Amino acid sequence: MNFIFIVYFFIIGLVFGSFFNVVGFRIPKQTLLQHQRSHCPSCGNQLSWQDLIPVLSYLHLKGRCRYCRTSISIIYPFVELFTGSLFAYSYYIFGSTVELFTVLLLISLFSIIFVSDMTYMYIPDKVLITFFSLFFVLRMLHPTITWSNAFLGGISGIFLIGMIILLSKGGMGAGDMKLFGIIGFAMGIEGMMVSFFLAVISGACLSMAFLVSGKVARKQPIPFGPFIIFGTLTAYFYSDKILTWYIAFF
Ligand SMILES: [Zn+2]
Repeated sequence: MNFIFIVYFFIIGLVFGSFFNVVGFRIPKQTLLQHQRSHCPSCGNQLSWQDLIPVLSYLHLKGRCRYCRTSISIIYPFVELFTGSLFAYSYYIFGSTVELFTVLLLISLFSIIFVSDMTYMYIPDKVLITFFSLFFVLRMLHPTITWSNAFLGGISGIFLIGMIILLSKGGMGAGDMKLFGIIGFAMGIEGMMVSFFLAVISGACLSMAFLVSGKVARKQPIPFGPFIIFGTLTAYFYSDKILTWYIAFF
């Protein structure tokens, strides 16, 4: 394992994270393809390259716009660091394999929808369709699971979240359902099930903790997206270990 490559993947991830911020922020407003330079959403001043260096610009400007001093959302440096560190960790775990491509696509998808979901409470279909096509092409070129497993995983993912939407009347939306369909298609039925259980368990634990500490009211919905992201990536990185543990436990 070459240390230089891990650093390289970290830096590439920071740059991609910066790009995913723009995509996640602009796609719901339909302005991605208008060739506007990056500008401050508050004062409209055009940003120079010094304002656009991942993480470092945010730290240097102490989280405020250089021109109007409006605070910049913490989402931006967070997504850059999230993408950077997970790109590096993925390379560390998988090296140059097909699994690496799959997990890099998953991380990219999650970064973009995280920005849209946090900013607009909405997961854009355009992003989901684009990534479904990418996973489809990757499955065609370098199969790691059978087609039947991929489609079974996808349909079961949609079905599982659909059931929860019907039973819970809120909390999860159609966007979460479609997202889980894509996760199922990319990972197959087994990986999808592990992701689902990890997402539900972590979501339930944190909800309980919040309820007990009185931080949220009982009826207040908690967004499920972050738990889907946590569950899926944990399942992808550690599914072998989790299944071994699960089988040993019962
Ligand atoms: Zn400004």
